[in-house]
Amino acid sequence: MALRESFAIGNVRVRAGASKEVELPITRLVTGGDISLPVRVLHGREPGPAVWVNAAIHGDEVMGVEVVQQIVASLSPKTLRGTLLAVPVVNVFGFMTGERYLPDRRDLNRSFPGSARGSLASRIAHLFMTEVVGTCDVGIDLHTAADRRSNLPQIRADLDDPRTRELAEAFGAPVMLHARLRDGSLRQAGRDRGARVLLYEAGEAMRFQAEPIAVGVAGVRRVLASLGMIDPDPAWAEHPAPEECRSSAWVRARGTGILHLDVRLGDRVETGQRLGGLSDTFGRRVRLVHADRDGIVIGLTRAPIVNAGDALVHIASPAT
Ligand SMILES: [Zn+2]
Repeated sequence: MALRESFAIGNVRVRAGASKEVELPITRLVTGGDISLPVRVLHGREPGPAVWVNAAIHGDEVMGVEVVQQIVASLSPKTLRGTLLAVPVVNVFGFMTGERYLPDRRDLNRSFPGSARGSLASRIAHLFMTEVVGTCDVGIDLHTAADRRSNLPQIRADLDDPRTRELAEAFGAPVMLHARLRDGSLRQAGRDRGARVLLYEAGEAMRFQAEPIAVGVAGVRRVLASLGMIDPDPAWAEHPAPEECRSSAWVRARGTGILHLDVRLGDRVETGQRLGGLSDTFGRRVRLVHADRDGIVIGLTRAPIVNAGDALVHIASPAT
């Protein structure tokens, strides 16, 4: 059999059956030294789809960095069918300082597809689109909840697209939530380029948590198996199907106080059910928090003190 053609990225080529770390130049630091976007390419010996997995588009969402590392460690380009582009950190500036945004306060996930002459965020987005998204059929974008919130492991994707839906089902997170595309997001820009994109949300910012990492690693591997890139693991057969949800909303605080929640991630709740309460500083209950819909708790705040209007509990409604 003829050897598969090598894979071109940046100014390097990766031969079939090999793995290579590539540094795509972004800019220079004010103190000197180049800053680059690190990409690990695993170019399988046999043909197959090209898939990217990225984490930390928001620099403080470090959970996915560990997922990407474990995925790479679990694969061999000798047996892989197709090509995997692993990008552990996209927002390299935010990652170094533990911040969600770029130094200019821009949200990288509202800066896609970007441009070579735009803001720093726009340039990183453009580089990622050109070198990574442009050569891939499928992408998986790993996130966590924002600061002081926590998310149940869940896939957000355009479930109305049959191929994307199959991939979301293959991932097998407890919940898959239909999400409309958002302007400037990687998911939107990827879709516009013809790629199927899954967004994985799990856990908290600035934390490595065992369950979100384990569900993420297993999910990415199940997607790769569903694409024929790796062999499925027999242990996966027992996995329950994800619960499909079509909409979600936050229950917000109706006053100010110290919050105690009675519900946990993954709990099923009914309209009117008590979710917790707000107290004053001496522990006197000043207000109760109730569910405004039936559904599954997919996110909640970890903040002990809340103000009127703060988001407390995120409830997703299962499809009927
Ligand atoms: Zn995020």
